[in-house]
Amino acid sequence: MQYTAPHYYRKFQCIGGDCPDTCCAGWQIQIDPASLRKYRKMKGPLGNRLKNEIVWKEGCFRRYDGRCAFLNENNLCDLYLEGGGEKAFCRTCRTYPRHIEEFEGLREISLSLSCPVAASLILSCQEKVRFLHGENPDRDETYEDFDFLLFTKLMDTRSLILHIIQDRSHPIGLRAAVALALAHDLQERIDRNALFDADSLLDRYSSDSKWTWFEKKLKKLENSPAEKGAVRDHLFDIIEHLEVLRDSWKPYLREARTILKRADEKRTDEICYEKNTALSSVEEKAEGSDAVPFSELFTDVIAEQLLVYFIFTYFCGAVYNENAYGKMKFSLAGMLLIRELVRARWIQDPSAVSTDTVIDAAVRYSREVEHSDENKVMMEQFLDNEDVFGLEDLFLLLL
Ligand code: SF4
Repeated sequence: MQYTAPHYYRKFQCIGGDCPDTCCAGWQIQIDPASLRKYRKMKGPLGNRLKNEIVWKEGCFRRYDGRCAFLNENNLCDLYLEGGGEKAFCRTCRTYPRHIEEFEGLREISLSLSCPVAASLILSCQEKVRFLHGENPDRDETYEDFDFLLFTKLMDTRSLILHIIQDRSHPIGLRAAVALALAHDLQERIDRNALFDADSLLDRYSSDSKWTWFEKKLKKLENSPAEKGAVRDHLFDIIEHLEVLRDSWKPYLREARTILKRADEKRTDEICYEKNTALSSVEEKAEGSDAVPFSELFTDVIAEQLLVYFIFTYFCGAVYNENAYGKMKFSLAGMLLIRELVRARWIQDPSAVSTDTVIDAAVRYSREVEHSDENKVMMEQFLDNEDVFGLEDLFLLLL
């Protein structure tokens, strides 16, 4: 068995009771069958408590005011404290915030953006993310019906996409546009069963000429603020339709949307897409105060790290649904929506935002979207609508 993980993976350490947004509140913790069997057999006071605090029919811990029944007033886990440490945990609690994607003979491990400590590690990382590989020859497996040819092409394409996204000699908008177009073109080959042609596609996208070509393409789309606002609105429409996991999500989302709309109306929308050199009413307002320009708050490096995070985690999952373009769109939408949530906060009060605002938006987004399989599937399906989320529509949000 092979393993891959980002280089910052080992730096993670849970801060337990000091966590600003513990993972033991706000969602249902599903218990795996082996742990359920273990809990059923437990004796003594802890065994009794487990009997009462598990919803056996649904296989999850009971919650009170959204908090796991075992989360005590110090934000520590009683199951851990009274059950002899980590061995008392179910699989979810033992693994989180590690996220594992499973492929034949390969496990790809990442840290979930929904944990504030992991989000801080991911978003404050200034260097380019590297991926570490390991192997355990004793653990081998074969999956029935695993499409190894498609998987190989997806892996090759993802390597090139990550290389493009991490090429800091170009602005992140241009890098993301090229990556999206590459996924689009690969999808076209998947759809017409022409994977043999994928290598020449990768060669084409490896050449330097792609930068000038896409630069010109993006330039032609400039000066379309109204269309840009409409595409962003459609993206927000998607998340308004998803299952809500936390009560605070909808008001947070609606407030952000209202602020962005109001900013559009006042024609301040263009400000945040402009380079640092341009002055605007909001930036002028920010001048002389402690406020940072938006481009210094939500930097190209942050956008890069978010894209690398989403692409690494999801792109190769296309081996199970043959939708590589959908996975890339999902990754891009994640970065863009987090950016817009941050932007709303910045417009509201540019002197009250910091890296913590970015981390907060990323954690909230991830908890709502990534922690529901149903939401991930629905989002990919909505993004499939090429009339609304075509290549050029999404390019508009990258200008
Ligand atoms: S969210 Fe992260 S840091 Fe907080 S308690 Fe959970 S694992 Fe620990």
